Amino acid sequence: MTTTVIGVDLGGTKILSRLVDPITGAASGRAKTATPSTGIDGVIEAIAGTVDTLDPDGEVAAVGVGVPGPVRDGVVLRCPNIAGWDRPVELRARLAERLGRAAVVANDVNAGAAAEHRLGAGRGVDDLLAVFVGTGVGGGLVLDGALRDGPRGLAGEFGHLTVVPDGRPCGCGGRGHLEAYAGKAGIVAEARRRHAESPNALIEMVQDGSMKSRHLAKAMEQGDETTLELLDEATTALAVGIGSIATVVDLPLVVLGGGIVDKLGEPWVAQIADRLDLGGFGADVVDLAIAHRLDDAGSVGAAVLAADALV
Ligand SMILES: [Zn+2]
Repeated sequence: MTTTVIGVDLGGTKILSRLVDPITGAASGRAKTATPSTGIDGVIEAIAGTVDTLDPDGEVAAVGVGVPGPVRDGVVLRCPNIAGWDRPVELRARLAERLGRAAVVANDVNAGAAAEHRLGAGRGVDDLLAVFVGTGVGGGLVLDGALRDGPRGLAGEFGHLTVVPDGRPCGCGGRGHLEAYAGKAGIVAEARRRHAESPNALIEMVQDGSMKSRHLAKAMEQGDETTLELLDEATTALAVGIGSIATVVDLPLVVLGGGIVDKLGEPWVAQIADRLDLGGFGADVVDLAIAHRLDDAGSVGAAVLAADALV
């Protein structure tokens, strides 16, 4: 017998909730609303509203929520992308009380990693890191079959691994972190800096807007020199990081997903694989796999974690 649960993906701009079969990952129903900018109480009410829409009779036993910030024991430490969320909030307890059922709260990247581990590219592998390369670079660490938060919620924070001492500035305030080389925000910032000296196709396309993965792919296809250099640096940074982490933590598999991986696909992942020996014991110890791009992985991952709480 399977028990349907609700998975909620809380983002900076929208809240998406789905009914999920945690065994197959099949998602049905869809309740979506804009993320309120009125503070934490408003966000909790908005989440509850989507849950009521999907489950008006209150039959679903558990709700899992993926949030864009660090989480420790059901407490969301902060959510920089959500207005008014600048202090720790006991979201699990507050949702459980408001919804009258079990609630689980997890970092959204960790929820995505749980989905890949249980239902996607990491199925059957008990020790892995899932890396999502998008605006930034996020990671979720699974050890002995369980998702790890770490005592300070830092486990799997792959984007802030130093790959170049005193290198490019990172969004976190540090320098030389992997995310500054492989994430879209870091790539476009460096492309802008170089554009001031010598114009490049990437910035000519993006102008003052935000860079999408398709811009990157297009500039690459055009053979734009700066774009190719920046991608080369991103490839090396990821290879160094993955090889090193896989060696230290003893991970046989790293699952790669996120916007840039989706867009550049297998050829790019093969290039990263070719350079793995730049980090630790490299290709001798770790294989790469592309994430399965599960439908609404954030909601599904949160639902998988919610179902675990019912066992
Ligand atoms: Zn950083």
